[in-house]
Amino acid sequence: DADSLARETPGDVRTASGTPLAVTANVGSSREAAVALERGADGVGLFRSEFLALRSDGVPDVDAQTEAYAAALDRFPEGRVAVRTFDFGGDKPLPGTDGTGPRGVAGSLATPDRHRDQLRALCRAAADGAGDLTVVLPHVTRVEEVTAVRDHLDAVTDELAEEGVAYERPDLGVMVETPAAVELAPELADRVASVSLGTNDLARYVLGTTRDADPEATEPAVIRAIERAVAAANDAGVRVRCCGEAAADPDFAAMLVGFGVTETSVAPDAVPAVRRRLDGIDADAAAVVAERAAAASTKSEVDSLLNRES
Ligand code: PEP
Ligand code: MG
Repeated sequence: DADSLARETPGDVRTASGTPLAVTANVGSSREAAVALERGADGVGLFRSEFLALRSDGVPDVDAQTEAYAAALDRFPEGRVAVRTFDFGGDKPLPGTDGTGPRGVAGSLATPDRHRDQLRALCRAAADGAGDLTVVLPHVTRVEEVTAVRDHLDAVTDELAEEGVAYERPDLGVMVETPAAVELAPELADRVASVSLGTNDLARYVLGTTRDADPEATEPAVIRAIERAVAAANDAGVRVRCCGEAAADPDFAAMLVGFGVTETSVAPDAVPAVRRRLDGIDADAAAVVAERAAAASTKSEVDSLLNRES
């Protein structure tokens, strides 16, 4: 029944020819990471760290952040947890601010003390928690942002080493969720260990619409942006996961596999259905669907390829 299906064992989703695929979860707390584990997630593909601050009316101190990240890592001793640095701005203003000013990683770089505190908490959690940590930068629009974060990470790890505090240096990844990041995807992918596609923001920026409950990720212009970003990541040999809500539709997730995505991160409740759709998937057939979707000129063509109503 549906309940027992929700409790599948993580870690065993593969294509028909044996390529491992990860189905991970988007979470906003370590408690939600526990729910994700119950639903059969292989890890956390996106921990929206700004939710820690939105819930507690301000940015938690280093110790509290360390604890929250380490608790999520402890849920997935064999898996990977991708914690995104604070993504304040727009629809998620830092409590006490009006949400104007630089968004995402640019906002972090504009508040270096807060940014270094977060990196310090992440490096400590990587040593304390069981699973592997990736730190993902939101709303990247410039190569220099990655370089600047790496410099901060160097400084923070030097400090921790000097102080004799246990730490591990996490991998770095970027969100590709702006048209700028799609344009720069080859250069970005060359500088990081993984790329996270954010189809929620990417759809609205590509289409020039406001963000709503259902960004039109099946618009051909969005599909082509996804195709380019995934190809750039694959060419650079880096892991590519998709974290937008569009991947919660199992047929959309299957198309992503056809483009070369090997990890889809969805809301915990969507994990079981995506796992069922992707396990044993014929990757060649998925690639044909992906190719047709990328060649489509209308949304209704894409929708019908994905068995959706337009
Ligand atoms: C996205 O933009 O697709 C994404 C995953 O990030 P968020 O929904 O948190 O903006
Ligand atoms: Mg986003």
